[in-house]
Formats: sequence, structure tokens, C-alpha cells
Amino acid sequence: VPERLVVIGGDAAGMTAASQARKMRGPRGLSILAFEKGSYTSYSACGIPYLVGGVVETIDDLIVRSPEEFAERDIEARTRHEVTEVDVNSREVTVRDLEGKTESREGFDQLMIATGAIPRRPDLLNSDARGIFGVQTIEHGAAIERFIEQEEPKSAVVVGGGYIGLEMAEAFKTREMNVTCVELAPEPMTMLDPDMGHPVGEALRDMEIGLFTNERVTEFEVDAGGVSAVVTENRTIPADIVVLGLGVTPNSTLAEKAGLEIGDSGGIVVDRRMETPREGIWAAGDCAEKFHLVARQPVSIALGTHANKEGRVAGINIAGGHASFPGVVGTAVSKVCDLEVATTGLNEADAADAGFQYVTATMDSSTRAGYFPKASAIRTKIVCEKRSGRLLGAQIVGREGAAKRIDVLATALWNEMTVDEMLNLDLSYAPPFAPVWDPVLITAREAWDAVQEDLAAAT
Ligand SMILES: Cc1cc2nc3c(=O)[nH]c(=O)nc-3n(C[C@H](O)[C@H](O)[C@H](O)COP(=O)(O)OP(=O)(O)OC[C@H]3O[C@@H](n4cnc5c(N)ncnc54)[C@H](O)[C@@H]3O)c2cc1C
Repeated sequence: VPERLVVIGGDAAGMTAASQARKMRGPRGLSILAFEKGSYTSYSACGIPYLVGGVVETIDDLIVRSPEEFAERDIEARTRHEVTEVDVNSREVTVRDLEGKTESREGFDQLMIATGAIPRRPDLLNSDARGIFGVQTIEHGAAIERFIEQEEPKSAVVVGGGYIGLEMAEAFKTREMNVTCVELAPEPMTMLDPDMGHPVGEALRDMEIGLFTNERVTEFEVDAGGVSAVVTENRTIPADIVVLGLGVTPNSTLAEKAGLEIGDSGGIVVDRRMETPREGIWAAGDCAEKFHLVARQPVSIALGTHANKEGRVAGINIAGGHASFPGVVGTAVSKVCDLEVATTGLNEADAADAGFQYVTATMDSSTRAGYFPKASAIRTKIVCEKRSGRLLGAQIVGREGAAKRIDVLATALWNEMTVDEMLNLDLSYAPPFAPVWDPVLITAREAWDAVQEDLAAAT
């Protein structure tokens, strides 16, 4: 009898692990059975705002691999099957068939937990009313699409101005709704420092998306059809549809009930091989805790880029190979209206929380040589440690061609470079691609000056 791998959660982390394990171990050595409570496997949740906004035509365009395609690779993926219990002692899972409403138990030798995350829902009056949506899985995207087609909402409110909320706000605007975003912080896009988030707010207003910052939502009003308004401390905003963009928490309840260790961040505790302290039980993706390489502490960060890499590492180890996942620096990009936004590592607040003393440098520059057609604005900010000048984090806000420059900064961060080491990096230059001093380099140069000035002031 071949060894059996059971996977809980049929998206990025789970199915990457399954595919990787299958690649390394032929069909005879390992049987793989995956359970997904939704109707789809291996989909791009990241594409939901583009589906709602009409950039992507159908939900099928977001499906990377169907259960039929997995079957061709000797991976059995059962959709509409929810795992309701894990028994780590008998090494069995309890599975509910959501169509047939039957329950069964399936044994496993190895278990991959990849249950993702759950959108935060505020504990406010009527927060579970019809028409109020969290966004995490493709099912949520499909539900929003259905609601828009049936109800033809005219006004949308996004609660929380993080990147998912803002991507959804833009999508609703494209569908010609009146869109308002309410954010508790002083500026939207709180993964950025407020000075970098400010231009994001301006871009929203330019696009006639209403934005109320420093404002708390207090309750939701409902009528017979569901949500009808969002009430804040200062006003009542009519709303036919509401999206909650309040972040997510790791979906680790199933693991917790099974007696697996949950970290302070809320994620399942795993080692560098993605194994929990229970041998042969693995976790990856949004449900698993990650180690932040700059803050030097466990964190929960929900990003598809991590989920795929962690899934691959888990799959290799499940198959008997050896791979490790060192941790994350939290690199993310997004696009809000015409504005590209990117971040890596620690912003000022994170750096202070992690106990760093830091200086910052912010530079306005251009994505191409200033005289070149379509040269556009880019603002780059570096946060680096006082004295040593070690890079701690960076942020970029700009127009087309700006955001992916964050990858250079993320690579520098990964390698623990100082701004002194960075400012002579041999980065490419030609007028269609960059000014002669790339925005990354001039900001590193400015950061080096800031380190020197701080040093001079202290001596
Ligand atoms: C709108 C949006 C935009 C995003 N944009 C980006 C982006 O641009 N870049 C980026 O890096 N990341 C982005 N993300 C985040 C990214 O989608 C997630 O980090 C990634 O999908 C996590 O993969 P996962 O496999 O850990 O979890 P998920 O993709 O959430 O998959 C978990 C699966 O497990 C299933 N499941 C849960 N519990 C059970 C159970 N008990 N039994 C059976 N099945 C179960 C769920 O139905 C789900 O399908 C975005 C997310 C959203 C929602």
C-alpha cells in the first residue's frame, strides 16, 4: 500500500505541495488526496478585483488547474468537501461532503494543512448582513459577482483602506458605482508610512472615490434587501454593497482543535521545513506562521508569493527530500488607480516596534530619463538602521514602471546590505528604463547622507 498524503485546502499552498510531492515521488510511492470545501482548486484569489472590475472576463480565467487536470497527474482533488476534524493520534481526518451531506473518515500517513486565512469581520451591529462581503477565496469573488449581477448596486463602501480594499474600490468604480472608502488610520494603504500613503489618498480622490480617513465604522444599517448604509462616527454613507478590507487572520482553528501549536501571531507553528512539531503533519501558506527575517520574530503575513514557496518546500520534504524556507521580508506590490505601490521589510512603525533606531530618506525621481517619453514620477523611501546604515525596509509609490523596483530593494534587504553597500550597486541604465542614477540608487545615496548626518550630530 503506498504512503498516503492528505491535503486540506485546494489552493496555492496545498496544491503546490501536492504537485511537488507528486513530481518527486512517482504515483506508486505516494497516493495524494486533497479536500477543498469550495468548488474550485488552484485559483488566483489575487485576480478577484480584476474579475469584478471586468479586466478578467470570467471566473474560469482565474482557475490555474482543475480537479480533472490534477487527476491526470494522479492527484485526487475532491471539491465541496470540508475537513471538519483532524485526529492526530489515529491519523485520520473527518470529511463532510457538502453536496451529499455525508461524513466519512480518511486515514493519512502525511497531512498537509493549507486552510488559508479568514477575512476579519468587525463585531458591529449587522456586520453579517446580506451584501457585506469579506474577500479571500474565489467563492467570495463569485458571490460578489452574483450579487452585482442580481442586485445592480449603485453605491459601494469599502471598510478598510488596505491593498485588497482599495483594489476592490477601484473595481467597483470601474463598474460605475459611487464608491467610498472608510479608513481608521490617517492615510490609506497602511502597509506604507503615512507620508507614502498620502499620494494614494490623492489618487483615490482624483478618481472620484470618496475617502474618509481617521474615521471609525460603528454599525451597518439594513433594510429588507440587506445592507443599506455604513454608519461611522461622523456620517451615514448609503451602501448597496460593502466589502470588508480589514485584513485576514490565519485559518488555524482546525489545527488548534487538533492540538497543534498555534503561535502568538495566530498561525500554525512550523519549522523551516514547514513541519509542525507533530511528525508528518505539515502546514503552509496563510494559515502558517512565518519568520520575519528583519524583525527577527514570527509573523502572520497573507501573501500568495509566500504560500507557493512554502508549499513547494513542504512538498519536497513530504516526498522525502530536503528543503527549507528561511522566512520572509514581506515584499508586496499593488496598483491603485494609476498608482503603483510597493513595500518590503519594515516601515517606520514596524522598525520602532522591532526595537530598531532608524533614519529615513525619501526621494522623488523618474522611472525613465527625464526627457524620455512616458517618464513618470516615482517616490522611493528607505528606512535604515542608525549608525550601521543597514537597510530595514523600503517603500515605493509611483506611476507605471515604479513598483517592481522594489525587488532590487528586497534583494538588498534579504542579503542584509547597508545603504553604503547599495549605493554603488551595478544597476542597469539606458534612457527608456531609468535615469542615469536609478531611483533606488539616489535614495540609497540620500539614506547614506542621513546616516552620516545623524552620526555627526551624535559626536
Ligand atoms: C483580493 C485578493 C488579492 C490578493 N492579491 C495578492 C497579490 O497581489 N499578491 C500576493 O502575493 N498575494 C495576494 N493575495 C493573497 C493570496 O491570494 C493568498 O495569500 C493565497 O491565496 C494564500 O494561499 P493559501 O493556499 O495559503 O490559502 P487560500 O488561497 O486561502 O486557500 C485555502 C483553501 O483552503 C480551503 N479550506 C479552508 N478550510 C478548509 C477545510 N476545513 N476543508 C477543506 N478546505 C478548506 C479554502 O476554501 C481555500 O480554498 C490576494 C488575496 C486576495 C483575497
